[in-house]
Formats: sequence, C-alpha cells, structure tokens
Amino acid sequence: MTINPYESAKKQILNVYDFLKEKGVSWEFIEEYLYPDRVLQVNIPVKMDNWDVKVFTWYRSQHKSYRGPYKWGIRFHQDVTENEVKALSVWMSVKTWVVDLPLGGWKWWIIVNPKELSQRELEELSRWYVRAIYKYLWPDFDVPAPDVNTNPQIMSWMVDEYSKLVWKFTPGAFTGKPLSIWWSRWRNIATSLGGLYVLEEYFDLEKEEFQGKTVAIQGAGNAGLNFAKLIEKKGVKIVAISDSRGWIYDPDWLNIEKIEKLKQNKQSVTDLPWAEIISNDDILKLDVDILVLAALENQITSENVEDIKAKYILELANWPVSPEADEVLFEKGQVVIPDILANAWGVTVSYFEQVQGNMNYYWPESEVFERLSVIMKKSTKDVYNLAKELKIDFRKASYVISLERQYEAWKVRK
Ligand code: NAD
Repeated sequence: MTINPYESAKKQILNVYDFLKEKGVSWEFIEEYLYPDRVLQVNIPVKMDNWDVKVFTWYRSQHKSYRGPYKWGIRFHQDVTENEVKALSVWMSVKTWVVDLPLGGWKWWIIVNPKELSQRELEELSRWYVRAIYKYLWPDFDVPAPDVNTNPQIMSWMVDEYSKLVWKFTPGAFTGKPLSIWWSRWRNIATSLGGLYVLEEYFDLEKEEFQGKTVAIQGAGNAGLNFAKLIEKKGVKIVAISDSRGWIYDPDWLNIEKIEKLKQNKQSVTDLPWAEIISNDDILKLDVDILVLAALENQITSENVEDIKAKYILELANWPVSPEADEVLFEKGQVVIPDILANAWGVTVSYFEQVQGNMNYYWPESEVFERLSVIMKKSTKDVYNLAKELKIDFRKASYVISLERQYEAWKVRK
C-alpha cells in the first residue's frame, strides 16, 4: 500500500490539535501551517560528457520561516514525488522548533541518480542549480545543507558558485562544507551522536539500565554505522545490521569495525562470511530491546506493526513509522523516539556552521560539543515531561512543543 507522506505529515499535525487548542493555539494558524509557503520546480539543462543536453528537474518546498531562515537538505535521488518534498519540508519546520533553533523548514530534491553521472557532470549540475536560483538564496533567508547522496564537495561547488555570483565569499550561505571552508566540527557524526544522547537521556529519565541491551540497526550508512560505532562503546550488544542488499544477524555480537571496513571497500554487510543473513522483513520483527531505523521511510506500518517486538524504537531516518503504526505501538507500550527529536542534531550543527560562517569565526570542538549537549538534554527533557503530563507518545509531545512555539512567533508577526 502506498502512503502519501504529505498526508501523513498533515495527519500528525491534526492529531495534536486538541492539545494545542487547550494551550490557546488558533485554528487559523493550524490551517496555514498545513501548507508550504512556496513550492518551486526548476528544470535545468546540463551538457553531458557526450555533448548531449539532458534536462534535470528539481523540486523545492519552503514550508515556514516564522523565526529564521528556511533550512534543510538537498537530496540527489531518482525517486521523488512533490508530496514527498512537501512532507519533508513540514517535518523540518517541526524539527527545528522541537529543539528550539531559529530556523524554518524546506527541502530540495533533484531527480537524478548521481551514480550515473561523471564528476564533471555532477559539478555542472550543482553549479547550474545555484545559477538558476541564487536570487532566492541568502544567508538570512534560505540556507541549504546536504542530505542523501550530496556531500561536502557538492556543497563546496555550490558555495563557490554562489560567492562568485554575489561577488562576496559567503560561507554562511550553505552548510555541510569541507572543514577547510568552514564546516563546523562534529557535523559528520552529529546525527548519530545526538540520537545516542537522546536515547541515553531517555533511559536516565526512566532510571532504566542502558548497558546490556540488544540492538538491531536498519541501515549501515552515515547515520546507522556511526551510531553503531558510538553505541557499541556503551556496553550494548549489536546483534543485527542491514544495508540495501540485506541484513546480517549474530546473536553473539556483530563486529562493527569489520562491518565498517567492508562498507569502506564498497561491499555489503552481507559479505561477512560467518553471520546468518535474514530478510528485511524478519529483522524488523527481531526480539531485541532497541530497534534503530536509519535507512528508509515507511518501514513500520499498519501491515507489520503487530509483529514488532522491540521495546524501544529510535528513528534516525525520517518518517520510518506511519501515524497508524504509532498509535498501535503506543497502545502496546512500545516507545518510539521520533525522527523530529532523534535526528535533529545534524541540522543543529548545520545551524552552528551557519552562525560560525556568518560571524567569520571558528568555534573549537569543545564549544560545539558543549552547545550541542545543552540543547539535546533540554529538548529531550521537554518532550519527555510533556509526554508524561499529557499521557501521549513522544511524537505527539514533540509536535505540541514545536507548534506551540511556532504559534507564539506567528501570533506576534501576523
Ligand atoms: P546513507 O545513504 O549514508 O545510508 C543509508 C543506508 O540505508 C545505506 O547503508 C543503504 O544501503 C541502506 N538501505 C537502503 N535501502 C535499504 C533497505 N531496503 N533495507 C535496509 N537498508 C537499506 O544515508 P544516511 O545519511 O545514513 O541517512 C539515512 C536516513 O537518515 C535518511 O532517511 C536521512 O534522511 C536520515 N537522516 C540522516 C541525517 C544525517 O546526518 N546523515 C540527518 C537526518 C536524517
């Protein structure tokens, strides 16, 4: 069954309207909030290596910016719908306010399989896009960052093109750049580190033991593998991990260092010779304490939710659990730490990078880490306390906190 992500995003907002109404939030605001401010489609002709011209389509949705520039990632991927881009822009607005950053949400998505392009074609595509829309980008209004299949090199080409067009070196206009041109320290592992701290903070608040728990991780990419490396040091037992080719399971503990080496050699986790390989469907149903979703959207739905056994589900990916499945998990007493809290740390450090770029001043690693930990701890406590007070799940509590904050900004600006 195909689920429309934008409809899911709207449903998540409407699901908390009763709680917001109690707090004085008006329907007028909610109605406006359901729609992005602006959706743009740009078609870019790129001269390929064989001199043919190929046209690439970009979608871009700017959701809301009541208290700061629109922010989020540029994704290069062959599969996209306008609804997906709109949904991701909504989730970004919600996310930035759960952790109280002065930003709004947006999303870019270009329909391309970057693996089919040469390095020169990729550079031309990246620079062309900036030439096409640079008048809509500036550090105080709209600040792009990398996402799936985009990287520091691509951001570097973009900031270089932008700086040439506006006749000013402008490192605060794009984030996720290489460290040599103002990439904030900690950015590369911020999402995984933050996800781990949120989980640890949750266990602390519940006064529950973290050590000795069993963990399964869907996705051995940037977010999943870095998370595995970090959580391994905390005395938990990682028994399963996956990539697009399959899952690997070892009840006695997987060796993450060996898995990382395989991934660095462009191999799959399934190339490990000694472990049992199981299917994607089976891994979601594994009897583990913590299930980490770090690959794809829409993994736990009304179709498989009854079979999910993990007590704790951490969403490092965006939208891996559908709203219908959320309700069932909550009823069954399973805890979902939602994407808008669990993976908000990449954008937080992106924001730090933006600030440092605009100030033309570099924070040391300790300062970035200190600022990140303060925000992580406070946001997790805010969400935890509200969820307990209202007897709702953590996603709903995150929405209530975020939308109430945005309403306050909307009210004084409208
Ligand atoms: P990535 O491309 O580095 O890794 C994705 C991983 O998922 C790969 O190992 C891939 O093989 C695996 N995968 C793909 N299809 C799969 C399938 N059918 N079953 C199992 N595994 C599969 O991407 P990433 O940066 O790690 O991002 C992963 C998710 O986390 C995305 O939804 C992304 O939007 C979200 N996210 C990432 C960050 C970040 O900072 N990296 C921040 C916020 C959200």
